[in-house]
Amino acid sequence: MSSVFKKIIDKEIPAEIVFETESVLCFKDIHPKASLHLLIIPKKEIVDLQSVQKEDLFLIGEIIEVAQKMAKAFNVEEGYRLVVNNGPLSGQEVPHLHFHLLGGKPL
Ligand code: AMP
Repeated sequence: MSSVFKKIIDKEIPAEIVFETESVLCFKDIHPKASLHLLIIPKKEIVDLQSVQKEDLFLIGEIIEVAQKMAKAFNVEEGYRLVVNNGPLSGQEVPHLHFHLLGGKPL
């Protein structure tokens, strides 16, 4: 069964998408923990950070580029966090690799 993020990628369920490329999607977290809380995900189905392969490293670089671009676009480039939870023990709830971009005031 596909994850909720795969459904967002396939536009089967709505999300507040703020940026998209051929390989990366960025949308607002539905339960924000800061005044800016974006999720940046690869469109490729990668379960978690530990599953990233050497061949995915260019894609991971693209995600970092999107994070830099979004930090600039949302005026938090002076201070933000890029967070990845890996595995259920860390609190990862959605089994599709995602980077939390958190900026501004904590909520
Ligand atoms: P994690 O705990 O690292 O797996 O984070 C999953 C994040 O996905 C949480 O911050 C959720 O609020 C967020 N989330 C879950 N479902 C959706 C959704 N349909 N649209 C946007 N964000 C979501």
